[in-house]
Amino acid sequence: MKIIDAHMHYSNIASFLTASEQNGVNYTKAGLEEERGNNNILAGICMGLCETKPGSFPDKQAATPMRFDMGELPANYYYCAGINPHNLDKEAITNLDVALQKSDCAGIKLYAGYYHYLVTSRKYEPVYQLAIKYDLPVVIHSGDTYSERGLLKYSHPLSIDELAVKHPELRIVIAHLGNPWLLETAEILYKNKNVYADLSGLLIGEKELFERFVAQDLYLNMFRTALILADRYDKLLFGTDWPLAHIDVYVNFIKKLIPEAHHQQVFYENATKVFTKLSLGR
Ligand SMILES: [Zn+2]
Repeated sequence: MKIIDAHMHYSNIASFLTASEQNGVNYTKAGLEEERGNNNILAGICMGLCETKPGSFPDKQAATPMRFDMGELPANYYYCAGINPHNLDKEAITNLDVALQKSDCAGIKLYAGYYHYLVTSRKYEPVYQLAIKYDLPVVIHSGDTYSERGLLKYSHPLSIDELAVKHPELRIVIAHLGNPWLLETAEILYKNKNVYADLSGLLIGEKELFERFVAQDLYLNMFRTALILADRYDKLLFGTDWPLAHIDVYVNFIKKLIPEAHHQQVFYENATKVFTKLSLGR
């Protein structure tokens, strides 16, 4: 099966380094190349993120756009330009504009919840205008924050409904299916035609943790219920949140949640529609 990993990371973030060590993930280019090869990952989208000091993410000092800092991305990997709302002055917007026009940039990433602004904040308006101008998707972190400093009221998916109504021409991806607000996310997907969701980061950790959760039908059914309610398998994107989980472990987990008839769409096709800049020959 051909796979596109629509949400992964390639930045030196202290909490990612710790997590990858605990999970036994080799968080290097060589480690990524090995795992992608074993799992037929044709392309990937890395979520741009930086911290200026180890452990400072979510970092108010980081420059917009945030990129990746582990060296060159592997072939056919792209990035989403990360937005720090504390750094959106004229120069930052100009830098973002320039970055979005380059071939390696496939979209924009907002860290709602990590940064304490609603996605409907006026601060983000210039960012949305650029996304619309260049027809690029905006991926929005949603649900649990992987940091105690996050505030959940800013990462609740409900505010994305208001953003979608305000900007119907903006292509939005709700990251992590808004977990644990799965039914809310399902409703927002169902209601708003230009809103999608990625399935990354629903579980993070080592193989044994996945086995423990996947063995419980009640757990899997929580996600399946939301997916059935949304009934939009044309709007779900596979993503791993690597290095927070091994790629093969994550592929097997998502295979259990998605009916086989929709695997091709969710693991591959939908990402090519959302990330239109993705050219598999790059
Ligand atoms: Zn992520």
